[in-house]
Amino acid sequence: MRTLVVDHPLVTHKLTALRDSGSDTATFRSLTDELVTLLAYEATREMRVQPVQVSTPVAVANGVKLAQPVPLIVPVLRAGIGMLDGMTRLLPMADVGFVGLRRDEESLVASTYADRLPADLTDRDTFVLDPMLATGGTLATVISMLTSRGAASVTAICLLAAPEGLRHVEQAFAADAANAQDNDGAAGGGTGGMPSVRVVTASVDERLNERGYIVPGLGDAGDRLFGKI
Ligand code: URA
Repeated sequence: MRTLVVDHPLVTHKLTALRDSGSDTATFRSLTDELVTLLAYEATREMRVQPVQVSTPVAVANGVKLAQPVPLIVPVLRAGIGMLDGMTRLLPMADVGFVGLRRDEESLVASTYADRLPADLTDRDTFVLDPMLATGGTLATVISMLTSRGAASVTAICLLAAPEGLRHVEQAFAADAANAQDNDGAAGGGTGGMPSVRVVTASVDERLNERGYIVPGLGDAGDRLFGKI
């Protein structure tokens, strides 16, 4: 698994405003939207393309178009929904699936309550949207759901990540990959080979606190996007 921390003054500027507890819901939503589009630009760098030729008014030009099948975007309910518009702005042709996981506040263990994903993800690039990579339990589960259905790649876009969560996802993915190799000699990836798994984030923060919140973080992303309900 690879982790990319997007180091760009605009990203840091928007993230700083997002962290500020003085930012109201409307500001928080629009900053999230803008930040996701900036992260998505880096997150889509390795997307599969195929060569095409087009006729300009002057001559024939060689170019590319995104390969089929179209990518799948997977916002993790509920906070990931706040990242969807920022992502589909760059990938308007993508399909969108949904996953819902509930975190037990005591054990911090995640269980699935919604799974609206295609059964077959062979050869598809997939993008998971989850603002906070905290313990990593949710993301590890979602990555496993996607790779077990044959996704060619999984790129998680997270506004913030905790070192503990990154380690957890890394270990879970390594264990999944080893199991798949034991079972059939090749893991996921549709056309064979290991699926590529990446996390793209604006920052890896210091740590998690005893309640599973990222420090310094930005608080509860779902509440800040959608209010306490
Ligand atoms: N989920 C959040 O919304 N915030 C955190 O800091 C950790 C998990």
